[in-house]
Amino acid sequence: MLRHIEHIGIAVKDLHKANALYQVLLGCEPYKEELVETEQVVTSFFSTGEGKVELLMATSPESPIARFIEKRGEGLHHIAFDVANIHLEMERLRAAGFQLLQSEPKRGADNKLVCFIHPRSANGVLVELCQELPEDDRL
Ligand code: ZN
Repeated sequence: MLRHIEHIGIAVKDLHKANALYQVLLGCEPYKEELVETEQVVTSFFSTGEGKVELLMATSPESPIARFIEKRGEGLHHIAFDVANIHLEMERLRAAGFQLLQSEPKRGADNKLVCFIHPRSANGVLVELCQELPEDDRL
């Protein structure tokens, strides 16, 4: 089962400017900024109580975020749902015919194990499953 919305990912061109804007919009400062080298993005996170907001900026033209912005412009990029056991959920969704973008969970930003579901499988929405890493594995 997918539990609550963990965060909403928004693709931005300029993280510095977007941070300043979202700080006013949400009324709080980002609680962290993190470079995710494997995804070629730098992210910032805002805590909004129930779900978080993740801003994503590409660090190279080959980054998935750069390609997304090139095609569709800035905006809503993905919705992430919290799961208790990512392996079980991946298995369940694969069996139900969803197209997963990874065969194994990978390490995402903000101490998570993540896996993405192709938007083709979910009415045009890129869905991220994320499981909180145990304390010992955190950065
Ligand atoms: Zn995310």
